[in-house]
Amino acid sequence: MIYPWQQDDWQRLQQYRERLPHAILFHGQEGSGKVHFAENFAQSVLCERPTIDAIACGECEACGWFTQYSHPDYRRVRPEVLDAEDAESSAETEEEPAGKKSTSSRNPSKEIRIDQIRALATFMNVSTHRAGLRVVLLYPAEALNGASANALLKTLEEPPPNSLFLLISHRYDRLLPTIRSRCQSFALGLPDAKAATLWLEQQGLTDADKWLAEQGGAPISALAASQSDDEEGQEELLGQFARPDMAKALVVAERLQKVPLTSLVSCQQRWYYDLFLIKLTGKVRYYPRHEKTLLALAKQIALHRLQQALRDAGERRAVSDHSLSARLFIENMLLDYVRLFSPEVVA
Ligand SMILES: [Zn+2]
Repeated sequence: MIYPWQQDDWQRLQQYRERLPHAILFHGQEGSGKVHFAENFAQSVLCERPTIDAIACGECEACGWFTQYSHPDYRRVRPEVLDAEDAESSAETEEEPAGKKSTSSRNPSKEIRIDQIRALATFMNVSTHRAGLRVVLLYPAEALNGASANALLKTLEEPPPNSLFLLISHRYDRLLPTIRSRCQSFALGLPDAKAATLWLEQQGLTDADKWLAEQGGAPISALAASQSDDEEGQEELLGQFARPDMAKALVVAERLQKVPLTSLVSCQQRWYYDLFLIKLTGKVRYYPRHEKTLLALAKQIALHRLQQALRDAGERRAVSDHSLSARLFIENMLLDYVRLFSPEVVA
């Protein structure tokens, strides 16, 4: 079933059902439930007995295959890293013996590679098995690299008959304009805070407001963040940010070195963004519970230094996967932060 805040969007999508376009591009902020929405649509067009609201029945043979990712007319294309994450989370629940978890020595790719797009050609050339339609779900589209984007573009320019491409993008601005123009664009917004909070509470979250704010209003991200093991680490980091202290930075870096670096840098990016926002507008977005502290700190930092810090954090995020020493990485991150509050050194 689609999420409750997607009802209107679902109705709006039905206008395409009579004459399906070759490609639909769902776009909007990450964590709003776009993948889930597009998967529901894919399942509903392959379903043999959809309901009157055009929702998949969940009971026919096609639906059975679909939910097991074995429908012969359906392909899902996404970076390897997402498969690896799924495999990891199911391994955790199955409690495999320790040490058996990371059998692969190679890092799973974060890109959609050209061989994944080439593999679609065979799929496209085989006649369809059931409903006379084949569906490709591809996400996130910004993970296409230059070569794979061009290969996909060729397919979109001369779409094989009876095929439907569903692309999903969290970063519409990063896509090739030629890809965007070949797709029917379909924007999916975030739910309003009330609806999102209600849904999160129904999922069992007690501090739904806090999680929702931290994830910029994106309910799926909020739920995922609340279930991750990184919370304690992030809280400790926020404590450091609230009371910048050169001496403590080294101790904290030592303690946080087991927390995934991307999660720590994201936390720092959000903190900087809030400092920046409160300085300019008097409001915060991600950490309303730290509003007073943020206001006091923002007053102590010159705007241009804050802008530079935001840029630095962005660069740090980009290299956070390749860091050789987590402890050094966090130390630098914290020390740079503390230096923001010291007098500026003019070179
Ligand atoms: Zn069905």
